[in-house]
Amino acid sequence: MTLLITGCAGFIGSNFVYYYLGKYKGRKIIGLDKLTYAGNLENLENLTKEQKKRFKFIKGDICNRELVEYIFEEYDIDGVINFAAESHVDRSIYEPQVFLKTNVLGTQTLLDVAKKYWYDGKSWKSGKKFLQISTDEVYGSLGPTGYFTEKTPLDPHSPYSASKASADLIVKAYHDTYKMPINITRCSNNYGPYQFPEKLIPLMIWNALNHKELPIYGDGRQIRDWLYVEDHCRAIDIVYEKGKIGEVYNIGGHNEKENIEIVKKIIEILREKTKDEKISESLIKHVKDRPGHDRRYGIDPSKIKKELGWEPEIMFEEGIEKTIEWYLNNLEWVKRVISGEYMEFYEKHYGKS
Ligand code: NAD
Repeated sequence: MTLLITGCAGFIGSNFVYYYLGKYKGRKIIGLDKLTYAGNLENLENLTKEQKKRFKFIKGDICNRELVEYIFEEYDIDGVINFAAESHVDRSIYEPQVFLKTNVLGTQTLLDVAKKYWYDGKSWKSGKKFLQISTDEVYGSLGPTGYFTEKTPLDPHSPYSASKASADLIVKAYHDTYKMPINITRCSNNYGPYQFPEKLIPLMIWNALNHKELPIYGDGRQIRDWLYVEDHCRAIDIVYEKGKIGEVYNIGGHNEKENIEIVKKIIEILREKTKDEKISESLIKHVKDRPGHDRRYGIDPSKIKKELGWEPEIMFEEGIEKTIEWYLNNLEWVKRVISGEYMEFYEKHYGKS
């Protein structure tokens, strides 16, 4: 069994490679990643010697049809899990086009090549599947009550979420038109090891440790539903193995928190762990709100629970402790992934602090 995992050097993709090769001893992964600013091969350095033998990395773009065809031809791919994406909402506001190229056209290229190798015009080879990793952001924003179900209409607001919603629709179209065996998962916000330090939790950890301002959009009362990345990886595995063909599964753990609450929690834990008195709430700086900022996301995960028996195992208190501990033990990793390009982007949009 050989899976093609795209975006394997990013945050969730790399966590999934560890999870999958650790769980399934005989299986292989071909990892395809363009290594954009967010992709870092160092994320996969801790695979064991034995796991490295079952993992082959290929640097390249999911939009490169020739390359994707070569991979299918050479490695007889059984399934695709598509993590590859431009994933940062802020960047999508300033540079939307690359989001459309990678997230929409890249996904369509993968679908089309999979169809070429798995479909003979009448039927699909058995045991094949294409799993699209999507996000709860495709549903738009909630008021103070209610949850996103799989039936909630798509209503994306940022170029990022619009590109992810478009990708979901083209995946669905390949199922509806050609009967392609697909699933789509829509997960809430992830946190955990190897997350690029432009996203809320690692950004706040790094800035607080360096006594830099902690920029919070607007009043900081936007609500996100947080899930530890390993719980997401378990859910993806279950959907890949047991998900009913053609279905969408929402993934979340009913762990809604205001952004400001998350930041205060990080300050509290870091202060306790480092005994550094300078890490305090006085570092918090409210900055102009992001245009089109969604107010609240909340996932209803009852379908995946009922149909596939998945439940989160790592509660927030434990997950955030583990995450902060990981960053404290991997400060050199953080320093290395913060490239010049990242700093330029950061300074352009948040200013020097
Ligand atoms: P990430 O930005 O950390 O990683 C994305 C990876 O894709 C990087 O390694 C990057 O180099 C690679 N990539 C980008 N463009 C590529 C291209 N054209 N060809 C090949 N590789 C390319 O993102 P992440 O947080 O790990 O997210 C992974 C997936 O999960 C995304 O599809 C995202 O939409 C989805 N998702 C993320 C979250 C979250 O909270 N992080 C939540 C729900 C869903």
